[in-house]
Amino acid sequence: MASSTQNDLTIQNDLTNKQQWFTEFFDSEGSAFSLKIQEHLESVTSPYQSIDIYKTAHFGNLMVIDGCTMLSSRDHFLYHEMMTHVPLFSHPDPKKVLIIGGGDCGALNEVLKHPKIEQVCQVDIDEQVTRLSERYFPELCRSNKDPRASLHFEDGIKFIKEAQPSSFDVIIIDSTDPVGPAEGLFAADFYQHCAKVLTDDGIIIQQSESPLYHSQSIIRKMHQDLKEADFVTSHTLPFPQPIYPSGWWSCTLAKKQGNALEFRKEDARNKSFETQYYNADIHQAALVLPEFMRKPLP
Ligand code: SAM
Repeated sequence: MASSTQNDLTIQNDLTNKQQWFTEFFDSEGSAFSLKIQEHLESVTSPYQSIDIYKTAHFGNLMVIDGCTMLSSRDHFLYHEMMTHVPLFSHPDPKKVLIIGGGDCGALNEVLKHPKIEQVCQVDIDEQVTRLSERYFPELCRSNKDPRASLHFEDGIKFIKEAQPSSFDVIIIDSTDPVGPAEGLFAADFYQHCAKVLTDDGIIIQQSESPLYHSQSIIRKMHQDLKEADFVTSHTLPFPQPIYPSGWWSCTLAKKQGNALEFRKEDARNKSFETQYYNADIHQAALVLPEFMRKPLP
């Protein structure tokens, strides 16, 4: 996962050790991340993007879209748990959830752990991502047939423009980087449509890239755009993500009313399901920003 850079999908052959590596270069920051690969399992070119699946030596399976790491079996729980349990425990009583993107179904699987959720609608532009995830990440897709879930394959921007007003409590934007089909998901007019589709106490959360690399660019603009779209409060929560550029990632949450820092702590503490990363203390801790992130954020 990377943005605003030319990413080369490169397998470097180490002829001496007969080992292969997948490397995502993040040229604009002069950095790169590599995983040792055992096998290139599949390569699909859809009308929207190229999707590659690798079997790695130590991170399980790896999904790569357009040369950018999307998820690995080993560390996806960090991202998926923060993208879902943070907004769901920040809302007073969430019942209807919209996921835009998220075709790997990891976010959907986490949302459906909440027993009071009645309906989850997932809208990914690319059906191939879901079909490949079903095959190579079955643990993420085990809730796909839950009667509360519906999977749609269309552009999230078109979907939100046509959705009924006040029809969702929480919107989760689990998208690729702000280039190509996902570019329009990082814009004030898109957030305005989201605000309309949310109920009065509605919450939106979006993956917001690297705190180290993007605080003064993508993250700063996201807060400005959310404010322009009448979200009264917003906050960025950092979390570790070893396979993404800088190894450190973030999600940005915004509310139509109330305070982005408030969440149902006791309910989070007494959650009825297992997680690997998220808990009430992690949520609380992620609300504390380092000095360099406080300054650029409005
Ligand atoms: N966790 C991942 C990350 O941050 O790298 C995101 C993974 S998920 C696979 C991203 C999804 O966003 C992809 O499946 C892609 O098809 C979808 N996507 C991109 N643009 C979209 C759009 N305009 N509408 C709906 N889905 C979109």
